[in-house]
Amino acid sequence: MSSIILETRDLSKQYKSQWALKHVNLRLQQGRIYGLIGKNGAGKTTLMRMIAGLGFPTGGSIFLFGKENRGGLEEEGKRIGSLIEEPALVAGMTAKENLHLQCLMKGIPNYEVEKELLELVGLQDTGKKKVKNFSLGMRQRLGIAATLIGNPELLMLDEPINGLDPAGVIEMRELIKKLSAYENKTILISSHNLPELYQVATDFIIIHEGEIREVLSHEELDERCKSYLSLEAVDVNRLATVLEEKLHTQNFQVMPDNSVKLFDCLDERERVGRVLHENDVIVTKMVVCGTSLEEYFMSVIGVKGENRDA
Ligand code: ADP
Repeated sequence: MSSIILETRDLSKQYKSQWALKHVNLRLQQGRIYGLIGKNGAGKTTLMRMIAGLGFPTGGSIFLFGKENRGGLEEEGKRIGSLIEEPALVAGMTAKENLHLQCLMKGIPNYEVEKELLELVGLQDTGKKKVKNFSLGMRQRLGIAATLIGNPELLMLDEPINGLDPAGVIEMRELIKKLSAYENKTILISSHNLPELYQVATDFIIIHEGEIREVLSHEELDERCKSYLSLEAVDVNRLATVLEEKLHTQNFQVMPDNSVKLFDCLDERERVGRVLHENDVIVTKMVVCGTSLEEYFMSVIGVKGENRDA
């Protein structure tokens, strides 16, 4: 069981009467990549700002590396690297000069660190090129290199793929995976784009109107979004028996409305229909169904929201 890097208990932030975060309870495990997904205004930046110590919560508590963070980040805070707003880069300097400046500001004047970090983010060949001539993707990667100074264990990246072109998105994805796989960093990365986060995250945190609506693993998300054959029959018990005994599958679920979700045989619908017919099952419906990532996300923030308001 890997260790808990970060825990929030009832973490809340109110701006006058508006809740930006409402009783957020989260636990992040070491080495995982958490995708924080929510629409604009959901509370993603606020959550990261509170964890990074860039703002003060109005309620609840934050535990970093097992210690409660009361009012200041101190030692534990140094183990966090965050890229929350625009990276603070000097446009007229090269990548290396920028990193050198950041190293000095953090009290780590070490030339080797700069070289290593530039290699890690794929900017080792930028030479004398000034940051003002970098693409957005290059600037973002340099921003990440700057957050890596001091070798933080937890990285928080707020919308790092926003505005990147497809090549930049791929580079960013590869960098994040590399940081997790080879450096065992825990990464919290926010986006309003679930399909994009899906490519990189191991876990998903769905936030809406300042509340955590769901936390689920990649496998759980796949399970909820997978395609299936929706079957209805006059006699659902007979249908289930024939699926087991004649089609030799147990990979189905009988739903409360008596429909059956069959997760096998999607490409063999004719055979399924024939076998059921031959075994006296009167099928009244057979449709391929599935939930896209966006639909699932909307169902979590939309349907639950309506229930709460009702
Ligand atoms: P996200 O990052 O998901 O787009 P934010 O965390 O930026 O969302 O914002 C969450 C909510 O808090 C929004 O409704 C936003 O308007 C509000 N908010 C954020 N910062 C402030 C602030 N400084 N003053 C007042 N309201 C704020």
